[in-house]
Amino acid sequence: MPELNQHCAEELRVAEAQQLRRNLRVSAHEATAVRQEGKAYVSFSCNDYLGLRGHPAVIASGQAAMADGGAGAGASRLVTGNHPYYAPLEARLAAMKNAEAALVFGSGYLTNLGVIPALVDKNDVIFADKLVHACIVDAAQLSGARLLRFRHNDMVHLAALLKEHREDSRHALIVTDHVFSMDGDVAPLSEIAALATQYDAWTMADDAHGLGIVRTADAQIDVWMGTLSKAAGVYGGYVVGSQLLIDFLINRARSFMFSTGLPPADCAAACAALEVMEREPARSARALALARWVTDALGLPAAQSAIVPILLGTPERAIQAAEALKTQGILAVAIRPPTVPQGTARLRLAFSANHTDVQVEALITAIRMSGCLDTTG
Ligand SMILES: *Cc1c(COP(=O)(O)O)cnc(C)c1O
Repeated sequence: MPELNQHCAEELRVAEAQQLRRNLRVSAHEATAVRQEGKAYVSFSCNDYLGLRGHPAVIASGQAAMADGGAGAGASRLVTGNHPYYAPLEARLAAMKNAEAALVFGSGYLTNLGVIPALVDKNDVIFADKLVHACIVDAAQLSGARLLRFRHNDMVHLAALLKEHREDSRHALIVTDHVFSMDGDVAPLSEIAALATQYDAWTMADDAHGLGIVRTADAQIDVWMGTLSKAAGVYGGYVVGSQLLIDFLINRARSFMFSTGLPPADCAAACAALEVMEREPARSARALALARWVTDALGLPAAQSAIVPILLGTPERAIQAAEALKTQGILAVAIRPPTVPQGTARLRLAFSANHTDVQVEALITAIRMSGCLDTTG
């Protein structure tokens, strides 16, 4: 076996032994049903919180744009890839966030990877919540700025770090998820904004799981970013903020400058999805209400978003619980390190406006029957 393959095989063996190996499965979807390896499940692992991925208006909009504008953008946006389907999408995003302007990137990951290194460099410092999404950590490392982590949602710790370290650097950026992707809880944005004012720092919030689900007083945060791949059901990332910030990012965010624009179909579908999101607020309310119903029924802390974690500890326990639910026709994927910290493997339940009451009742029953909550502690 060639040396490279040996290396890969050894690394995979180690992951396997720790129950941390990941494998791809083909997942074919229809609404909240997902088909894997010939079996159908009700999925509680999809981020399509509002059921917009399969919405007829969203699909029709994408199809028309592809027929009109072609399958791809053909070049980066700064060359010839800035097709006419971008402007309406960006205008809608800016309006939704009460911001002056918006800029769409290839994905949420690419947005963070472009924005953070454009804002700060080795002369600067980033203060990030312990549980921010992996792509914020990657972006912070890429920027070369000093990275300090504060305990999850702990404003006393953030204040202490700012007090001790702010003066050592030129610019400071405080960054957090708005809704935490694996915990579903919400960051104290007003307190973060107040600390930022006190210590002369910029603020950035990742709204990947908040858009369309958890509304906020947006004005206090300098830089909002998010994704069009979750509640909006399509694909792409975005940042909203002042016109000057957007003009600056067009010139400095490398993942924007050196990557091909999104396909017209993608932008048109995302724009249609945002329109439905605004027109039908009952979808957002339902996703939240279902999450609340389940946390109430199971005696868990009240859901603050469409995400509900069931903490189980070891990867083995998380996998066992996921398998138990699968026997009941329910898909709730086990989340293990490095996606979450050591010792906090879990089931992550994601609720959608498209889930039926019967499906949610079945979930509650299956979780109770699995016994996975009995030994939690
Ligand atoms: C999913 C996610 C991203 C990445 O967005 P993509 O569009 O999927 O690349 C960024 N931040 C958070 C918090 C996320 O959950």
